[in-house]
Amino acid sequence: MLLRSLLVATISSRKWLLVPSMRILDFFSQPHRAWILNLEKNPVLNAIVKKTFYDQFCAGTTPAETKTCVKTLKALGFRGVILTYASEILFDHKSGEAHSPGAAAGEARKEGAGIKVDDVIESWRAGTVGTIDLIEEGDILAIKTSGAGPAVVNAFKKGDLPPQQMLDALNEIGTKCKERNIQIIVDAESQHYQSGIDRIALDMMRKFNTDGRVVVYNTYQAYLKSSHSLILSHLASAARENFTFGLKVVRGAYIATEDRALIHDTKEDTDNNYNSIAQGALRQQLGEFGVSRPFPSVKLFLASHNRDSVISAQRLHEQRIAAGLPTVDVAFGQLHGMSDEVSFSLLSMKGRDGQPPAVFKCSTWGSMSECIGYLLRRAVENRDAVLRTNDEYVALKKEAGRRLKSLFGAA
Ligand SMILES: Cc1cc2nc3c(=O)[nH]c(=O)nc-3n(C[C@H](O)[C@H](O)[C@H](O)COP(=O)(O)OP(=O)(O)OC[C@H]3O[C@@H](n4cnc5c(N)ncnc54)[C@H](O)[C@@H]3O)c2cc1C
Repeated sequence: MLLRSLLVATISSRKWLLVPSMRILDFFSQPHRAWILNLEKNPVLNAIVKKTFYDQFCAGTTPAETKTCVKTLKALGFRGVILTYASEILFDHKSGEAHSPGAAAGEARKEGAGIKVDDVIESWRAGTVGTIDLIEEGDILAIKTSGAGPAVVNAFKKGDLPPQQMLDALNEIGTKCKERNIQIIVDAESQHYQSGIDRIALDMMRKFNTDGRVVVYNTYQAYLKSSHSLILSHLASAARENFTFGLKVVRGAYIATEDRALIHDTKEDTDNNYNSIAQGALRQQLGEFGVSRPFPSVKLFLASHNRDSVISAQRLHEQRIAAGLPTVDVAFGQLHGMSDEVSFSLLSMKGRDGQPPAVFKCSTWGSMSECIGYLLRRAVENRDAVLRTNDEYVALKKEAGRRLKSLFGAA
């Protein structure tokens, strides 16, 4: 594990290695490639990528492999895991094209007893329901709704509701998770689809986030100039309709393919926006909420590898509890294979009750080709986080050196 992490960190911390590696990964993942150049079909190529990038960031290609990985992650002391089924559709703003790196590539419809069944929605439903069976009470299921295929994303593009079959699937998933005390995170994706995704996430919150409990969180991308006002409008819905608002905040992972005009001009603007949303929620003051209107019931989930953002949020949360000031429940998440040092720093910040904060590790499972879009986004993030990946590389190199020395010392 250490050698694999060191290999990935060595590549990630050097742009001259990372950029060609990303191009090569992208090249081999194209489904039309001949057998010898095809990641899914060439077993040697498959084994190399599986043992390096895939195993570093993803949980498994099969349910059995995934369960083992989930167990290993939980044994490290995390409150739980967040697990996603990887199938998704990506929209590239520059080319204007959508493509599915995974199996759910085409739309197929068949008629049975007069009812139209969309095979892609059905395969997404089965994969997602299967994912619930790989986790336990207290864990979180994350859903990427674009994975349900063309009929769903075409509706999202127009801001319409997806087909009834998809609404039924979401209802089944919500009901099953509520029964098993598993929370759901609706992931944020390309802006092209996001208004539709927000719409179904809000509907799920209305339905399942009753009695002060959060079953469903929606994700808000702080790199978007519009994110602050979107959160205020969803807070207003929660206040008006009396449901608990599940607020998961990320910076945003689609900067390489998104319309750049929608995104804050600088990294600093994104950081300020992220921190102001997180700290505003923890102070129970966002817009007019908590100032001239009561602050509605909110649970906060901060998904980030940015040390300053998460550590300062946890400090503020504890300070407010110590001072008897109002705050909201907060949990944290980092991705599997990334920023373990941030996760463990958070875990070491025990509260007044002696308990560590709720920290989750987030992983993805699915076939190699289903996970390629996810792996490429992680590579883009590592390319842009030069300082962080270099720190990780230095720490891993030191640890590998220490173990090597002790091995020879012992011999
Ligand atoms: C548990 C978990 C769940 C996640 N779920 C989602 C999800 O559902 N949807 C999603 O989109 N992402 C998701 N992400 C990824 C997330 O959006 C970020 O891409 C990733 O975490 C890196 O940001 P950071 O907060 O860790 O910190 P940092 O490394 O400090 O920030 C990097 C981020 O800053 C922003 N940025 C970089 N350069 C600029 C610039 N020049 N101008 C403006 N902004 C810039 C980008 O968003 C970039 O990803 C998730 C991350 C985690 C840890």
